[in-house]
Amino acid sequence: MKPAALLAVLLAVALAAAVPAASHAAPPAPPAPPAPMDDDEPGSGDGENGVDEEEDEIERGLADALEIEPGVRVLVQSGRDLALSVEPDEGDDYGSLAARFGGAAGLASPLREANGDAPVVPERASEIPWKLLRNEYRYLALRTLFPRDAFRDGAWEHDPAQARALVYHVGLWQVADWFTGKGENWQEIARFNGFTGPDVPPGRVVRIPAPMLLAPFRPAAGSVDGVLAYGEDAEGPYAEYSLQKGEALYSAVIIRFTGLLHPTAVLEAADAVAKRSGIADVTKMPTGQKLKLPLELVATPYLPENDPRRIAATLDEGELEAAPLPALPRSLKGVHVLLDPGHGGADIGARSGRHGIWESDYVYDLACRVGRLLAKEPGVTVHYLVRDGKAGCRVQDARKLPMNRKRVVATHPAHLNQPGASTKAGVNLRWYLANSIYRELRRQGVSPESVVFLSLHADSLHRDLSGAMVYIPGDRYRRGSYGVRGESYSRYAEWREAPSVSFSRAERLRDEKLSTKLAQAILDGYRAEKLPVHAEEPIRDHIVRGVRGRRGVFVPAVLRGTEVPAKVLLETANINNATDSALLADPPGRERMARAVVRGVRSYFGGKRGQQP
Ligand SMILES: [Zn+2]
Repeated sequence: MKPAALLAVLLAVALAAAVPAASHAAPPAPPAPPAPMDDDEPGSGDGENGVDEEEDEIERGLADALEIEPGVRVLVQSGRDLALSVEPDEGDDYGSLAARFGGAAGLASPLREANGDAPVVPERASEIPWKLLRNEYRYLALRTLFPRDAFRDGAWEHDPAQARALVYHVGLWQVADWFTGKGENWQEIARFNGFTGPDVPPGRVVRIPAPMLLAPFRPAAGSVDGVLAYGEDAEGPYAEYSLQKGEALYSAVIIRFTGLLHPTAVLEAADAVAKRSGIADVTKMPTGQKLKLPLELVATPYLPENDPRRIAATLDEGELEAAPLPALPRSLKGVHVLLDPGHGGADIGARSGRHGIWESDYVYDLACRVGRLLAKEPGVTVHYLVRDGKAGCRVQDARKLPMNRKRVVATHPAHLNQPGASTKAGVNLRWYLANSIYRELRRQGVSPESVVFLSLHADSLHRDLSGAMVYIPGDRYRRGSYGVRGESYSRYAEWREAPSVSFSRAERLRDEKLSTKLAQAILDGYRAEKLPVHAEEPIRDHIVRGVRGRRGVFVPAVLRGTEVPAKVLLETANINNATDSALLADPPGRERMARAVVRGVRSYFGGKRGQQP
């Protein structure tokens, strides 16, 4: 970073720190912050970065005032020249930065020039000048720098006095350049606002008429499919849905539009929606009832196209599409399957009193069935991450399984989850173990594409929900490095081999791409076995938990830390649902699920689609 740029950042940080938070409206929701949360299922997401996490958070809190997304910040130079400061990823060069931030790899040479021909390295931030930025990033930068700006009554209202950094000497030329892409538009903006010259009169807001604005600044009235209308009231922006005949609030509205799945979160969100919509009794809603969903609760695909979260997701999708898909082996010969039956020891996972089953033993039996089927395939090697010392992985043909609390994570030494203890260590040790096995396979010459990681689970969701759901590692939820610290871990050989891991952008994109393909194959297997598949977005690249202040978005820890490129966490069933729990309790039901998984693995590796194992 140039000294001037550094100074600008320091000034911005100092200013942001000095101004009391109350003087600013809430900034736009940052695109997908990887917020770890305290959850026991799936893959506890809390505190994985170890003891220093809290301090890190405090430091980040100050430095992030101008952060658009992790590692990307707005720079203000000379009071008015905007640019982005970008921390390059491992493997980035000017071509990849130009493609990501400029929208065209052809901008690589002007970008290199702007950075004084310096090589791109992760330790040094690169600068992306305003004129090279794609409109989406210009929009995100201005929303970050001026969080109180908004579209009102046909124009974008810009208040230069409400910047989150030191901004000065800004004339209408800059404003026109920032919001319309053309400085020359300043005269028309001056006329529209009744200003007599190129300066913004002190204390005035500038209104930029809709037709002149860069596309992202122009709001859409509703979703493209016409299902949702967008609006704003005194409490903030919302999406509005008209209840159709026969639709239920939970399944047709809350679960569909918020992405929430867990019973308490669904209820809480339903309460928030009812309150916002002025509905006293949600059991008595007429067809056509207008329901207002606070935008902060709305899942990405249903957000307005110019919502910062949606823009970040769209940019990410574009990158993912452009990423290459590595060639996969065309058969199962030489394939290694890392099989993680999710829970073990005192950690029995999800349980349903109503249906009398619990996750650990039923899913372990299912995993043993998957292993048994895979063992029949010539050339496949199965590696179990959880071990049952006494019985081994032996399939049990019983409807009521005994509760076994002796199974251990197969680390060195073995790890037994203790009663009353956090399940966190067990979760983390499973990905440490997976990485240890993977590294050993790589040393033996096994290609990355010949290995898959399957973590099998059963979820406890709202009881109306049925069917399999697969979590995959979304690229943007696993930036940075991951590792846990502490004496409790240092006794494990797998931990000592590599206490922390990090992934380059190319690796994360590859992982997401391969994992999506594997997830699709497994769900196709479910369909071929006529087993239920979750109705809304059965493949998810992150988990959403909680409502409002406790909202968290993250990738399950076993997927986040695992180095195996193709990795999925399969929620085989929802044990709160009558159909699903009956399937999981029934030995032939578990066998069908196992067949579905093995069909998936086979078709992923180019075998005949949907072939009977
Ligand atoms: Zn689980």
